[in-house]
Amino acid sequence: MAPSVGFIGLGIMGQPMAMNLLKAGYSVTVYNRSLHKADSLISAGAKAARSPGEAAQQADFVYTIVSDSAAMEEITLGKDGILEAIRSEAIFIDSSTISPVVSRKLACQTAGKGASFLDAPVTGSKHGAEKGELTFMVGGDRETFGRALPLLEVLGKKHVYCGAHGAGLSAKLAQNAIQSTMLEIFCEGFVLAAKAGVKPETMMEIVQSSMARAALTDFKAPFIFKGDFTPYFPLKWMHKDLELAMEAGYSQGVPMPAASAVKEVYAAAKAQGKGELDYAAVVTFLEELAGVKVRTSGG
Ligand code: NAP
Repeated sequence: MAPSVGFIGLGIMGQPMAMNLLKAGYSVTVYNRSLHKADSLISAGAKAARSPGEAAQQADFVYTIVSDSAAMEEITLGKDGILEAIRSEAIFIDSSTISPVVSRKLACQTAGKGASFLDAPVTGSKHGAEKGELTFMVGGDRETFGRALPLLEVLGKKHVYCGAHGAGLSAKLAQNAIQSTMLEIFCEGFVLAAKAGVKPETMMEIVQSSMARAALTDFKAPFIFKGDFTPYFPLKWMHKDLELAMEAGYSQGVPMPAASAVKEVYAAAKAQGKGELDYAAVVTFLEELAGVKVRTSGG
């Protein structure tokens, strides 16, 4: 019989991930706080749950991907939450990007119920979730990781075991500190060039012929040049991840001067009401400061 999955959190990432599990033959029970986001999955054959606990109670795997630490604590520890209902043999996999400290606490509380916990944050954004091509960074017991791997292989193309509980999240925060800073400095450079009258397409030709070329900016540039900030990864979540990276740096005594400055740029863009847009909308904040736009014709 196909293993059963209780899947909680059907946002930008969770919806396509749950759909891929369903298509791969898993028996999937879904829960989302805003119930309507479960409709397409239920039409495709998923069972509906009315609470996180109901989604978890029969499941071999409990899978979560929600916004932040507070949301994870609510669905896990709250009334009708996961830990009220989880089976003792179950594996609880969390792909939310949250505080490693909170995640380690949830791992301990899950162990108290006899179940196993993995932090398994991802990178690859909405298109990676849709194609089942995410990269996973996993923390927890290696043997549990081995048992979870067949399921994670449905969702991703690369699975990196990082170490004990919280290590996957520590890697994820480091990775997003790099990614947020790369995109921000790309935008700063293009605003500088635009102010001097150098066209974005000319600048892109130069970047793509230089050591500054990156898969991230190759992917994001066409959206920036069109002014299309449909959220693949909302700016408010990149700001959250930079705040988590700062907390991690502070608690470990690691100075992060560039990421710290970049966090404030995302904070300012978020304060301007751009939090729901893709994080590439950080360019619009920089454009407004400089009084110039980085757009190709028609953009
Ligand atoms: P999203 O579209 O905003 O979805 C957030 C999900 O969390 C929704 O299902 C939301 O429910 C749920 N939620 C929020 N607060 C809740 C609460 N108090 N109780 C129950 N459910 C709650 O976000 P996303 O882009 O899918 O991202 C989800 C997580 O993955 C975040 O931690 C993000 O940093 C991480 N991530 C995202 C990407 C990406 O490219 N998008 C990539 C890697 C990692 P409602 O529908 O009711 O609001």
